[in-house]
Amino acid sequence: MSDRVGFIGLGIMGAGMTRNLLRANVDLTVYNRTPARMQPLADAGAATAASPAALAANVDVVFLCVSDTPDVEQVLLGDDGVLEGARSGTLVVDMSTISPRATRELAQRLHEAGVAMLDAPVSGGSEGAAKGTLSIMVGGEAADLERARPYLEAMGSTITHVGPISAGQSCKLVNQILVVVNMLAAAEALVFAEAAGLDLERTLEAVVGGAAGSWMLANRGPQVIERDWRPGFTIDLQQKDLRLVLETADENAAPVLATSTVFQLYRTLQREGLGAEGNHALVKALERLSGITVEQS
Ligand code: NAP
Repeated sequence: MSDRVGFIGLGIMGAGMTRNLLRANVDLTVYNRTPARMQPLADAGAATAASPAALAANVDVVFLCVSDTPDVEQVLLGDDGVLEGARSGTLVVDMSTISPRATRELAQRLHEAGVAMLDAPVSGGSEGAAKGTLSIMVGGEAADLERARPYLEAMGSTITHVGPISAGQSCKLVNQILVVVNMLAAAEALVFAEAAGLDLERTLEAVVGGAAGSWMLANRGPQVIERDWRPGFTIDLQQKDLRLVLETADENAAPVLATSTVFQLYRTLQREGLGAEGNHALVKALERLSGITVEQS
C-alpha cells in the first residue's frame, strides 16, 4: 500500500472508516468541514488538510463519504474542491450514497482533468463502518478498483464490482428498496398479528427462521415490539435514499409501487417530527391508519 491516501467527511460513517485505514497502517490525510471532527483522527496519527483542494494536492487516492449529491458536487467541483488540487492520475473514490446520474456527470468532469473515479457506496451502518465489515458496491474501471482494493478491504468485508461508473450507486438503491419493502412487510405482519391477538414474541420466533425471514424482521421486529425507536438508520436519511430511488426509477421508467408507498408513509412520520427515529418506526404510520398499537404484552 504505497499510495498516499486522503479521506473527506468524518461523520458517523467516515469516522469509523478512517480508523480502520489507520489500523491498516495507511498513510492517511483527512479533511472535515467542521474542523473539530479531525482532532481525534489527528491524535490517532492522521495528517489533516485545510481544504479538499489541499488534501488532493498531497495524496494519490481521495476517498469521500459526505451526505448527499450537492455535497459531493461541492467537495469535488466547488471552490477549494478536490478538482483544484488533484493531478492527472489522481483516483477519487466516492463512498457517499448519491444520484447515479450525477455520479456519471461528475466522473466525466474529473475524467476531462485526467482524474479517475469510482463510486463505492456502502451498506452495514455505523456498526459496519466501525468494525470494518461494510458491504461495498463498486462501479467503475476494474484497474481503478484494483488500485483502491487494499484500502476498501481495510474498511469492508464484501467488495463487489457491480459494473461501470454509477453501477455501485444503482446497486445501493436496489439495496434500499429491499430494506424498506422488507420493513413494510414486517410492520404490516406485526399489525396483523396484534389484531389477531397473537403473542408477538412467539410469533416472531415462529416465522423468523423460515421462508418469511429477513434481516429487517430478525433485527428490527424485536425492536418494534419493545417500542424501541433508537435508529440504526434514521427515517430522514432513509428518505434521502428513497428520493434517489424514485428519481432514478423515473429516469429509467421502472415501476416502484411498494417503495413509493413507503416514501409517502415515511413522509407522514417526518411531518409528525419523527425523522430522527429509526426506519423501523414505519410501523407507526400503519398504527395511525389502523388504530392498532403493536406492543408485546
Ligand atoms: P453524517 O454523520 O451526517 O456525516 C456527514 C459528513 O459529510 C460530515 O463529515 C459532514 O461534515 C460532511 N459534509 C456534509 N455536507 C458537506 C459539504 N457540503 N461539504 C463538506 N462536507 C460535508 O452522515 P453519515 O451517516 O456519515 O453518512 C455519510 C454518507 O454515507 C451518506 O451519503 C449516507 O447516506 C451514507 N450511509 C450512511 C449510513 C449510516 O448508517 N449512517 C449507512 C450507509 C451509507 P460536517 O462534520 O462539517 O457536518
